[in-house]
Amino acid sequence: MAAIELKGLTKVYPGGVKALDSLDLSIPDGEFFALLGPSGCGKTTLLRTIAGLETATGGNVVIGDRDVTGVQPGGRDIAMVFQDYALFPHMDVTENISYPLRIKKVAKAQRQAKAGEVGARLGLEQLMDRRPGQLSGGQQQRVALARVMATQAKAFLFDEPLSNLDARLRLEARTFLKKLQRELGVTTVFVTHDQAEALAMADRMAVMEAGHIRQIGTPSEVFQRPANTFVASFIGSTPMNLLDAVVRGDTLEVAGCEVPVPALAAGLLTDGEKIVYGVRPEYMTYTDEPADGSLSGEVIIVENLGASHLVTLEVAGVLVQAVVPEGREPALGDRGHAVPRGDRALAYRDGELVSA
Ligand code: ATP
Repeated sequence: MAAIELKGLTKVYPGGVKALDSLDLSIPDGEFFALLGPSGCGKTTLLRTIAGLETATGGNVVIGDRDVTGVQPGGRDIAMVFQDYALFPHMDVTENISYPLRIKKVAKAQRQAKAGEVGARLGLEQLMDRRPGQLSGGQQQRVALARVMATQAKAFLFDEPLSNLDARLRLEARTFLKKLQRELGVTTVFVTHDQAEALAMADRMAVMEAGHIRQIGTPSEVFQRPANTFVASFIGSTPMNLLDAVVRGDTLEVAGCEVPVPALAAGLLTDGEKIVYGVRPEYMTYTDEPADGSLSGEVIIVENLGASHLVTLEVAGVLVQAVVPEGREPALGDRGHAVPRGDRALAYRDGELVSA
């Protein structure tokens, strides 16, 4: 097992697309690290460059204490699981799992013993003689994982390994994969489109945009304190309210209303300064009673979220979303008030989070 260290990593594809732009990243030994970002931001390129499947055009990849920048994929001691699992259709489960050992010229009896041991760990005992075409999506995924585990790699790289599973299996596989990674303690880098998956599984995560890392942190840090308005608008199942504001002493003027300065920005703002005020709908409570420090307007949309409702208010031409406590569902056209949680509200200056 090993830490992964990327220093000034750059990848320019022939034709000039800069998919990675001098990227620095340090993933400690044993960490479960997720890479998240919009389509085309460079996630897959980053993973493939760590694996050696793409050649870096600048910078270094260090795995453990070894600089592997110029080393072929086979010499890097890392294993990658692809989105489509890349199982061999003509081989049974035992042969698929033991294939990397065959490449390493491990004796047949030893290969089979290892495949049996790893297969059992993943609950595949009854399926060892089947071919991939005779397995469900979830079972195929377990075979792909078993093959990776059999290699005893120093790190695992996963490229959207759950994306071919249906919603229920995906949730199961999430829990299973997280538990397995904990038990094995192998450094794992995981690319996903699904932020709920990243928030649920990762020890830490990076949010990428156009070849750059825009924030690295624990899921809670990234969710609760997005470092910039890009991350703030990208992360969260309902987007964060990001509203133009002007500083007026210890209050902010937002859409003609007054709200308190966010606790995190206290003492750091200048009177008269223009900023962006950010609060997640989850941290805005809807009420039909006028309340100090709230944003007041007309209810224009009410959405049922199951356990709660999400309401959209139009406040002087600006849309503000808030969550309605259970049992107080407003009607369209009602006048309502969104009360922000001061300890969860944020201020952005030139797109960057204001904090001490
Ligand atoms: P997605 O989430 O859609 O899979 P991604 O974040 O994984 O996207 P990459 O696949 O790493 O993004 O692509 C990053 C950029 O590099 C994109 O602009 C893409 O078009 C470009 N790119 C990827 N592979 C190549 C290639 N082989 N040749 C040229 N450009 C490429």
